[in-house]
Amino acid sequence: MTKIKYALVTGGSRGIGKAISLKLAELGYHVLINYRSNQTEAENTKQLITEAGGQATLLPFDVTSGADSEAVITQWQEANKEGVIEVLVNNAGIRKDNLLFWMKEEEWHDVLRTNLDSFYYVTRQLIKGMMTNRYGRVVNVVSLSGQRGMAGQTNYSASKGGVIAATKALAQEVGRRNITVNAVAPGFIKTDMTEDINEKDYQAMIPVNRFGTPEEVADVVAFLASSKASYITGEVISVNGGMYT
Ligand code: NAP
Repeated sequence: MTKIKYALVTGGSRGIGKAISLKLAELGYHVLINYRSNQTEAENTKQLITEAGGQATLLPFDVTSGADSEAVITQWQEANKEGVIEVLVNNAGIRKDNLLFWMKEEEWHDVLRTNLDSFYYVTRQLIKGMMTNRYGRVVNVVSLSGQRGMAGQTNYSASKGGVIAATKALAQEVGRRNITVNAVAPGFIKTDMTEDINEKDYQAMIPVNRFGTPEEVADVVAFLASSKASYITGEVISVNGGMYT
């Protein structure tokens, strides 16, 4: 029996994750769209995929909770024994910017839990299946902030820097099993996350002179998630319009 190939995208309902979900569906993956609370947006993304002839299933869980992530993924695996999750895109993320001097403990911990702990909770659940299957693609959506640090974002920069280091470490653990682990580091991308940032204030810093689109990030993620990217692992690819890192 041919197994159905699935791709799980955390935070796959809005912004960059939405564009990634659409792209992976186009490549033939049945996409598992994870999100936390905004069901309307998730339903909307699912509908766009099905209207285009693709397949998608909503898989809501809170990536900051190990127990929640484990319960939902295990339940899905039990109910879909014919399925194999070949691709995991760790994309869910938040920012809560503040200068370190003013930063509250919850601002630090919320960002670290959502952006870094989630990598551990979700990836550990899926890596075993990829090892058994002797094939897998893990793509982590990080950030320019995690490469060079950004003032006002010690929490966010630490979380993304942590995922970059984890990407490199995990790549070394699983390479022999045909599993690649890479990161994509966007600069400023037009999504809900950046709606409070005025493009005009920052575009002079960006050689391409504009913010990027979610689709421009999704194309790179999709390449790394494809079988064509078989000899690239432990890498961080910048998608930032030419801002030096
Ligand atoms: P966004 O538009 O705010 O979307 C965030 C997505 O993550 C939503 O689907 C949201 O689901 C989900 N999410 C948040 N917390 C979650 C949780 N605890 N559990 C499960 N899902 C959760 O963000 P975005 O701009 O597309 O960012 C996507 C990724 O790119 C993030 O990792 C971000 O750090 C990174 N990034 C973004 C930019 C940028 O300029 N936009 C730049 C560099 C890196 P709900 O709708 O249910 O809340």
